[in-house]
Amino acid sequence: MDGLRTPFILLFLIPIILTPAFAAERYEEQVNHLENTVPITEYRWDRDIIQACIFKENSVPNSYYVWTKLAVQDWRQALREYTGDQDSWNINARFVPTEAQMEREYCDVRIYIYDSYKDFPDYPEQTGAYTSVNYNNGIVKTAYVYLSPTVLHGDGHTDIDLPSYAFRNSAVHEIGHVLGLGHMATSDGYLMSPLFDFWKNDDQLPITMLELRALIQIYGTDGFD
Ligand SMILES: [Zn+2]
Repeated sequence: MDGLRTPFILLFLIPIILTPAFAAERYEEQVNHLENTVPITEYRWDRDIIQACIFKENSVPNSYYVWTKLAVQDWRQALREYTGDQDSWNINARFVPTEAQMEREYCDVRIYIYDSYKDFPDYPEQTGAYTSVNYNNGIVKTAYVYLSPTVLHGDGHTDIDLPSYAFRNSAVHEIGHVLGLGHMATSDGYLMSPLFDFWKNDDQLPITMLELRALIQIYGTDGFD
C-alpha cells in the first residue's frame, strides 16, 4: 500500500485481482494481531450510491484533494474485491470548488480540506482530522469529514505538517468512520486505531480483512443498501 497509484495503473490492476484468493491475500496484512474485530458504530448507510463531495481551500495543494479522493476509492475497491461484487459498493467522490456550493449541491458526505485545523468548525475541541455523522434511527443522513495537512501536536501548541502518508492514512481512517467503523482499543497500529504514530509508522496502514469483515457484518456482501 504505497506511493502514487495512478488511476491509469488501477485500470490495469482491476482485471488481475478478481480472484477471491488473491483478494484475501491482499487484505490479510495486519500490523498488529492483538485484536481481531473492528468495533462498529450505531449508524449505517442505506442507499445504492453514496455521493461524497470534496472541498479544498485554495491554499492547500491539489495533491491533498487527490489523496482524499483516492481514500474514498480505496474503500470502494477493497469492498468490491473482497466481496467479488463489482457493481455494488458505490461510493463516489467529486470536487466542489466552494463551500457555498457544497451547501447547495447534493452530497451525502461533505469532506472539507482546510489549510489548518484552526479552520475546523469544532476547533478548539478538534485539532486533528475528525468525522461527524447525522443519523436517524441508525440510518445516516449526512456525514462531515474535516481534514488538514496541518494538525496540532499533543503538547497543545506545536503545529505539525503531516507527512503525506500520514495525511493519506487519516483520510482513509475517517472514511472508515463514515462507513460505520469505530475505533480499535489499541491506541495505534491499526487503520482504525484512534492515533496514527507517524514517527513509528513510515507508511500508510492498509485496509485489511479486519475492516472489511466488520463492514460486511454491517451491510452483508451486496452493497450499502
Ligand atoms: Zn478516528
